[in-house]
Amino acid sequence: MLDRYIVIGNPISHSKSPFIHTAFAQQTRQAMEYAALLAPLDGFKATVKNFQLLGGKGMNITVPFKLEAYRLSTRLTERANVAQAVNTFRFDGDGILGDNTDGIGLVRDIESNLSIPIEGKRILLLGAGGAARGVILPLLQKKPLQLSIANRTRHKAEALKIQFDVYGNITAGNFTEFSGKKFDIIINATSAGLHDELPIIPVDIFIHANLVYDMMYSSKPTRFLALATQNGASRIADGIGMLVEQAAESFYLWRNIKPQTKPIIALLKALI
Ligand code: NDP
Repeated sequence: MLDRYIVIGNPISHSKSPFIHTAFAQQTRQAMEYAALLAPLDGFKATVKNFQLLGGKGMNITVPFKLEAYRLSTRLTERANVAQAVNTFRFDGDGILGDNTDGIGLVRDIESNLSIPIEGKRILLLGAGGAARGVILPLLQKKPLQLSIANRTRHKAEALKIQFDVYGNITAGNFTEFSGKKFDIIINATSAGLHDELPIIPVDIFIHANLVYDMMYSSKPTRFLALATQNGASRIADGIGMLVEQAAESFYLWRNIKPQTKPIIALLKALI
């Protein structure tokens, strides 16, 4: 019997997690299988419980269930507790350990894979959903000069500022409030791209950016990254590296083995 894992979300057909975890399992010779499962928008808890009852060992959680996953966890790692968002479950008997590996995935991609230090940088984070929550603490732990959080719905950005203020220098607002400001690193953590939309942002924010990072990914530059390039961004990166790095950290939580990420990132980039 192979140990069973899934990624659960809505939508889910775009997910590359089954490919990544299957490659990790082959690389590290683990007896496991990993699939994608669509959960109804009002059926997250029932879908999780059913998979757990059937003997599932763990799962990844993606849009839009990360906050619900936090509430469903019976134990939390410290980073998931601070983020109040969960992207990884490990089933320990009847219990559910909730973790959040998004932040470490993003930081490893920016610093190790893209070789851009975060310390001393001015960072703009667009979005205030589950992904944004997960990356704030790991970003602040790298000691940026400032972290600005901008969101379409302003009060959600403000709530994150209040929640994370003790960990670093944070400002918050809606998108237009950051027009004319200088940023070194801009990170798109909105889900606009999933619906083929663009966040309505002032394009002058891109002029000084050394890195514009989109957590989304696609075969050609995402609409967000194309907009950044047209408006002066000197370097762009999509979320493939983060995706593989966060997956590697989930894999480590489940299997206690760290897979090599660089060959899988290269493989995925060639396939997409
Ligand atoms: P959530 O549903 O939790 O949050 C969505 C966020 O996007 C909210 O801040 C929302 O703003 C904003 N948003 C949605 N549509 C628009 C729009 N048209 N214009 C402006 N803002 C918009 O999603 P997640 O935080 O979980 O995921 C966000 C993105 O990050 C997704 O695309 C996901 O695929 C990606 N991601 C990638 C990862 C990777 O490893 N590469 C890992 C995790 C996430 P509002 O509050 O106003 O509704």
